[in-house]
Amino acid sequence: MKTEKPEIDRVVTIDGPAASGKTSVSREVARRLGWRWVSTGAFYRGLAFVARQLHTDLKNEQAVVDVALSPVWEVRLSPERTLVFMNDEDVTDEIYREEMGEYASLISQYPKVRANLLEAQRRCYKKGAGGLVAEGRDCGTVVFPHAPVKIYLEAATVSRAERRALEEGKSVDETRASQARRDRQDSTRKTAPLQRAKEAHLVDTSDMNLEEVVDYVEGLIRKDLKI
Ligand code: C5P
Repeated sequence: MKTEKPEIDRVVTIDGPAASGKTSVSREVARRLGWRWVSTGAFYRGLAFVARQLHTDLKNEQAVVDVALSPVWEVRLSPERTLVFMNDEDVTDEIYREEMGEYASLISQYPKVRANLLEAQRRCYKKGAGGLVAEGRDCGTVVFPHAPVKIYLEAATVSRAERRALEEGKSVDETRASQARRDRQDSTRKTAPLQRAKEAHLVDTSDMNLEEVVDYVEGLIRKDLKI
């Protein structure tokens, strides 16, 4: 009998707020499982960066959609970082600054922008090419709603800000304020807000180090998938 459910028996989604550790955790979990990995934030960060380079008005939804559809940029997967190319030049270093996170958060509110990035995000899973760990805000709710394992990471605001400030050499207060702004915007937007899928495992990472979180999350996945 034909089933309506897409066959995505090898997708794990990991969502959570800014700097909850999603990127480091999901990348390491994918490495341990031998699966592909995507940080879907790279799509929003990359688009924001490219739009700014092209002097696009980020307040104009249609103008941003036009950039999203343009062949001038693309996202490529790699085990270490989700890469963004503009005119075949690797611009990945530019997109992961906290400032670009704020621009990404601005454009990620637009329904038409999200709709136009969705298919490319779904194509990161290739049937027969092993599994995929997908990390972001709406991976479990919108991008892969049928994923067999969903994780939602949470962390206290202070520990998140400390982690990111340390990486970027910025003050904890400044970083905390920026992350709080983004989280507020990401959780209150109308389309695909940051939200825990009801069936997602909730993991509070505040008092755990990276290895402890990875061990725990890997354990959940192996148990759920019996692998
Ligand atoms: O996860 P990261 O910090 O790279 O994401 C940057 C921004 O991209 C987020 O603040 C959010 O606005 C947006 N985003 C999103 N949906 C996703 C991933 C990221 O809206 N699945």
